[in-house]
Amino acid sequence: MTSILIIYTGGTIGMKLDPETGALKPFNFEQVEQEVPELKKFSYAIDTISLHPIDSSEIQPQHWLQMAEIIVESYDRYNGFVLLHGTDTMAYTASALSFMLENLGKPVVLTGSQLPIGMIRTDGKENLISAIEIAAAGHVPEVCIFFENELLRGNRTSKYNAEHFRAFRSDNFPPLAQAGIHITYHDELILKATEKPLRMHPKMDTNVAVLRVFPGMTQAYVESILSIKGLRAVVLETYGSGNAPGLPWFLDLLCGAVDRGLVLLNVSQCHTGMVDMATYEAGRRLMQVGVQSGYDSTTEAALAKLMFLLGRYDNAGEVKKELALSLRGEISI
Ligand code: ASP
Repeated sequence: MTSILIIYTGGTIGMKLDPETGALKPFNFEQVEQEVPELKKFSYAIDTISLHPIDSSEIQPQHWLQMAEIIVESYDRYNGFVLLHGTDTMAYTASALSFMLENLGKPVVLTGSQLPIGMIRTDGKENLISAIEIAAAGHVPEVCIFFENELLRGNRTSKYNAEHFRAFRSDNFPPLAQAGIHITYHDELILKATEKPLRMHPKMDTNVAVLRVFPGMTQAYVESILSIKGLRAVVLETYGSGNAPGLPWFLDLLCGAVDRGLVLLNVSQCHTGMVDMATYEAGRRLMQVGVQSGYDSTTEAALAKLMFLLGRYDNAGEVKKELALSLRGEISI
């Protein structure tokens, strides 16, 4: 019999209005279950495990580790996993899990909702029910996000809408599947399962930072980021195809950081397209000081990949080598 494990972590899907404060607060999964009698209609065995439910703004790497451990420990008993999670940091969690779980051979589908499951117009039921179908079908051995009829590769996804039901977008990679009357899988886009055993990478090194360039950024701003104690890598969020100002102090600071062994990874502030530091002088200069291309990575995936690689390797050279590879389909190269 097909069996599915739902891992409940909180998020709007399981929230209710707290009459005292008027704010939404996470509730237990039993209350979520009561709102979805449809769960009993599945012909699959559905088990649930609940973490202490939180707003996903509270998510930290130790929660990723808890989720990854649950998946690894119960891996042989289930055909697929559904992770109920708040939307705010869902793209970060999906990216992190994609790196932490190597040789994944079963679906790990993250979903949630914009409206609590107890509300009449909720998008939560639809999302949860289809996510279970997708996890049970077993076609997609990846960490993915199902939201508003689209199955997206998790490490290609960003939350981009706080209002509409279509909260997520994967602008640099097409959906892996679409749910209409049928669920249509795009097999040519889906990563192939390997014969190798699942391997968990528990260590995520959080000595990373994001430096977003903007007109008017000051030397003090850049200096303060690059001099953070223990810092090992920086995601540089640049303009367009990977461009940044040629201010001499800025280039000197970057050059000094690279000399000290910091890894600088260039991702674009644009949602679509990719970093190509050869196109403009404003990009070439970055390449010359030793900034590495993040290709068409999202910032979420770039951060997660850096934490994962820094957790694995002490040596910046090894980290840089693997940054240039697509490890879980996170970049197009
Ligand atoms: N603040 C909520 C969370 O991320 C938002 C949501 O789930 O849609 O937990």
